Amino acid sequence: MVPRNERDKQPMTSRKSGLTVLGEFGLIASIERRAGQHTHVRLGIGDDAAALTLDPGHELLATADLLVQDVHFRTQTATAHQIGRKSVAVNISDLAAMGAKPLGLLASLAIPSATPLKWIEQFRDGLLEAAAVYGAPLVGGDTTSSPGPIVINITALGSALATQTLTRGGARPGDALWLAGNVGLARAGLEALEAGVRGFSASKSAHKEPQALLKYGMALAACGRCSACIDVSDGLLGDLAHIVARSRVGVELDEASLPIHPEVRRWAKRIGADVIDYVLNGGEDYALAFALHDTRKAPLLSTGDTPALVRIGRVTDTGALTLRRADGCLENVQPRGFVHF
Ligand SMILES: [Mg+2]
Repeated sequence: MVPRNERDKQPMTSRKSGLTVLGEFGLIASIERRAGQHTHVRLGIGDDAAALTLDPGHELLATADLLVQDVHFRTQTATAHQIGRKSVAVNISDLAAMGAKPLGLLASLAIPSATPLKWIEQFRDGLLEAAAVYGAPLVGGDTTSSPGPIVINITALGSALATQTLTRGGARPGDALWLAGNVGLARAGLEALEAGVRGFSASKSAHKEPQALLKYGMALAACGRCSACIDVSDGLLGDLAHIVARSRVGVELDEASLPIHPEVRRWAKRIGADVIDYVLNGGEDYALAFALHDTRKAPLLSTGDTPALVRIGRVTDTGALTLRRADGCLENVQPRGFVHF
């Protein structure tokens, strides 16, 4: 955020716009008032940098995501509030995949000068609401005008016991492969929205308001049985390919055990597509795919709702991504990268 002693500068846009009316520093001040307090935030918004305290034995985890208007979101199909919430959730999902607890968020925005004040305020409210839900106080950031699209960059900071941090690199042959959450649902939702089709409310909300499985990721780290974990943001196969590469293993999926949400089945049928393709190559699911090094069931949360848990396959020593079809045949499969719009 801009330091206090620079707050008397002129706003950087001359046209009467949302950012001009509120003022860049007015926007920051309105955020600062509601940024939330946290015992580990020694210095939050208002100084040149935030100062965060780590618990003994913990390490800092940092992750950033960029959301660009008309690439990652459209203002025609999602409200500013939803976009604010989503920009936080997608970053928290990366912390969840590492088993980390959020420490804070940095939010940087480039906003076209013609953006209405109401849009900016609703975006801010959505962002702060999600930040509060995940216990991740906003500790800094930056704002500027944009000559092009709206660009949102969120950096999430988290911490985990250094001995418990989950990575993509620890899977071993023989581990069981599990999935927490839905896959394919957000892609069905995006397509239903783009096609202007009514219904498919679970799919649309999976696309517009994804939930990060933060508590589940933290429970996986604490259980001591999880050898590798990744959040499914670019499609199940695409993200499992990262575990294959980083762990130097293979992965075999069981087609018969892949979870298929009823709306995904209905959407694929409606447009004449292969439903398994949605499950394997959806996008923006923010589920967690993880390996357990014993054959016991995946852990359940002691408080709150546990996401849908399915054992979807196993870790192998083949170095390949394979799919055991329902008829028993084994096929090599290649991820098809998720293409944003
Ligand atoms: Mg990720």
